[in-house]
Amino acid sequence: MLRTHSCGDLRKEHVGSEVSLAGWVNRRRDHGGLIFIDLRDREGVVQTVFNPEISPDSLKIAEDMRNEYVVRVRGEVSRRPAGTENPRIPTGDVEVIVREAEVLNASRTPPFYINEEVEVEESLRLKYRYLDLRRPRMRENLLLRHRVIRFMRDFLDARGFIEVETPILLKSTPEGARDYLVPSRLHPGEFYALPQSPQQLKQLLMVAGMEKYYQIARCFRDEDTRADRQPEFTQLDMEMSFIDEDDILALLEELFITMMGTIRPEACLIKPFPRFTYAEAMERYGTDRPDLRFGMEIKDLTDIVADSEFAVFNTAIAGGGRVKGLCAPGCADYSRRQLDELTGKARELGAGGLVTIALNGPAGLLDNLTGDMVKSAAARFLTLDNIKAMAGHLDAKVGDLLLVVAGDGRVAAAVLGELRRVMGSRLQLAAPDLFAFGFIVDFPLFERNKETGRLESVNHPFTSPKDDELPLLDSAPEQARSRAYDIVCNGYELASGSIRIHRGEVQRKILKVLGYTDGDIQERFGHLLEAFEYGAPPHGGLAVGIDRIITLLAGEDSIREVIAFPKTQAAIDLTFNAPSRVTAEQLAELHISLREE
Ligand code: ASP
Repeated sequence: MLRTHSCGDLRKEHVGSEVSLAGWVNRRRDHGGLIFIDLRDREGVVQTVFNPEISPDSLKIAEDMRNEYVVRVRGEVSRRPAGTENPRIPTGDVEVIVREAEVLNASRTPPFYINEEVEVEESLRLKYRYLDLRRPRMRENLLLRHRVIRFMRDFLDARGFIEVETPILLKSTPEGARDYLVPSRLHPGEFYALPQSPQQLKQLLMVAGMEKYYQIARCFRDEDTRADRQPEFTQLDMEMSFIDEDDILALLEELFITMMGTIRPEACLIKPFPRFTYAEAMERYGTDRPDLRFGMEIKDLTDIVADSEFAVFNTAIAGGGRVKGLCAPGCADYSRRQLDELTGKARELGAGGLVTIALNGPAGLLDNLTGDMVKSAAARFLTLDNIKAMAGHLDAKVGDLLLVVAGDGRVAAAVLGELRRVMGSRLQLAAPDLFAFGFIVDFPLFERNKETGRLESVNHPFTSPKDDELPLLDSAPEQARSRAYDIVCNGYELASGSIRIHRGEVQRKILKVLGYTDGDIQERFGHLLEAFEYGAPPHGGLAVGIDRIITLLAGEDSIREVIAFPKTQAAIDLTFNAPSRVTAEQLAELHISLREE
């Protein structure tokens, strides 16, 4: 046995025991004759003392120890002398008086500090990820991830779900991204596709009668590098038979509430989770993943400004557009530069411009507002009554800043939605311990791709339309709504799912609306359609983004901080240097010849 205890385990009650420990040198302090080594393992750090009067041999060995050496010690746990306790670490009352020591392995000087939380360039951290993961923060993140996944497994197991693994080498499973392809050696010219999700497999498991399935599933999507996306990521994938939306949302709410109670008992939640239709979320927050930790809602001002003399508003309204706004509390004193920056942002996001109206003056009720307190380039075109009406509708007070966008209603809402996000974080409107979960329901079934002009599924092609809207598939598919739902939290989409189509003719119809030919349908989805002919039960499910939920729970900004070996934004693994070239023999076996670039 190399050790009897973990370093982080030792407490006052161990005083007097003989222990063996093994771990890494976290820090070494030489006090002329006496050497202190803080020894670290996964459970924590404990101080060990090398004293020439106790063991001169051990002291000699300790003289050569350096940070990150792997060492083993034997000795007696002792109370630290009064006044030298370290209340910042759980083992701070004790130390181990070393009688025997051994270096198990030496270490080069690491490329960055492991025993201190300092800013290190991410590419260096990722190249030496195995060292980066030794740092307490990263270790905590991985432990948190373990606890969350374990919680999910226990929770679902207790409710009759079974975990089933599904293949990685498969066929294209559309989720809206590009596939990763794997060439087949045995079948020249043919390829497997890595699953973008186990979507069709879990549906087949429902046809197979499994009734309640889950999997901690790896998904692969070859998307253009976008901040905070990973080519492979992990979902809690679930599917159930004989359920409707309310059953699934109730289960999810219970899952998240219980999970928060277990993992983050100090967090505040809004219960029950509020529910918004997609249309409502877009109208009030300008996004389908609203941050519900604060208000600052977008309001439609079109009717209120309909009689103004302001050409910007009138042109937009005459063209079928809308005027929308929000109120940034306490920002009336924003400088020219700050206002220009917000306007620039609004333009970048597609607005024609941004109308800013500062209600200057000592903070107070709107009744006190006079014309000379209004600071806005639009002030000359708007009456004080216009401005008071807008401000009133936006619940503004003197001291606030109104941000108004005129134009296409959806664009105006989306621009304001983004400004709301920016201002919310700038003004720190979100309470730090609040995890504001909410449901979004009634998504549109399709959206039109602006570039190709083709209809695409908002969720994926297996999502059921609302039963009473089936006729719209022929007459006005863009107006059809789906039985999809999302869970959002603090401005992120955490989970997304739907009640599925379980009847072949509806599935075929949807695929046709999406532009697939009969041949394509047979080739790509024939297996699923055939399965639906053998008694497919009504079913539905969802997938929870595990990387994202853990990022939120850990208080990190990037999902890379909670993935053991993530790829860079350019989809590179810096430790392994993957992707990389392969040998000519390997290519030949795979029947691949590379084009000379
Ligand atoms: N397969 C979907 C996704 O990966 C989730 C679902 O509908 O269950 O987003």
